[in-house]
Amino acid sequence: MKRPSLLQNPPSIKTMNFDSARMRMIREQLLPRGISDERVLAAMAAVPRHLFVQDALRNQAYGDFSMPIGLGQTISQPYIVALMTQALELRGEESVLEIGTGCGYQTSVLARLADRVFSIERLKELHIRARQTLDQLQVFNALCTTDDGTVGWPQYGPFAAIIVTAAGPEIPQPLIDQLADPGRLVIPIGDRTLQELVVLTKEDGQISRRVIEQVRFVSLIGQHGWQE
Ligand code: SAH
Repeated sequence: MKRPSLLQNPPSIKTMNFDSARMRMIREQLLPRGISDERVLAAMAAVPRHLFVQDALRNQAYGDFSMPIGLGQTISQPYIVALMTQALELRGEESVLEIGTGCGYQTSVLARLADRVFSIERLKELHIRARQTLDQLQVFNALCTTDDGTVGWPQYGPFAAIIVTAAGPEIPQPLIDQLADPGRLVIPIGDRTLQELVVLTKEDGQISRRVIEQVRFVSLIGQHGWQE
């Protein structure tokens, strides 16, 4: 019997090998750009990024770019997720506050690296979808809510690490106040199209800032962010 040729049966999305695509992402996008924290690399090797995007986009989920997740929002490029996560220098015992749950991918990476994650998303529809994916992946140490994250989540603070995955005009003061000492906060700051990725460190009561990358994020909208 004649075997069907590959051309007649191209690999479908279902048969695409997501595991090897994920390993390639680490090898070609993260390692060459200086992501060296073994725990961050292991977390990103483990989290199935393709499950956080719509079915039609799954075969592109490990590409070197950001992608739409609906409602005008995006899932960040893998390198940016890795860079921001690495900047937090997580060791496993921290409480982390995340602003901008989006699809929940970054949340899932953080949940593997810290003790607990508290994640706030302003758009209810995205929050609900992210929670479903996180439940499906049994990420039970992340607490998610719908709210304005620019005011933080004081009842669970202070947080040893805070990550903001939407860009504001300045660092929201409530987040600086809810950062533990020692603590690290990473946030894109700039105008609505272009920003600098800022790492703020609090240690012995002193605050210092450094810029680690030029970036392009969707807007942080809220009381201490942009207006709509
Ligand atoms: N880390 C997310 C990135 C999503 S894009 C991911 O991996 O998918 C940024 C998200 O921040 C959007 O979903 C947007 O709705 C949300 N956002 C913007 N302003 C916010 C605010 N004030 N509080 C909480 N979430 C906010």
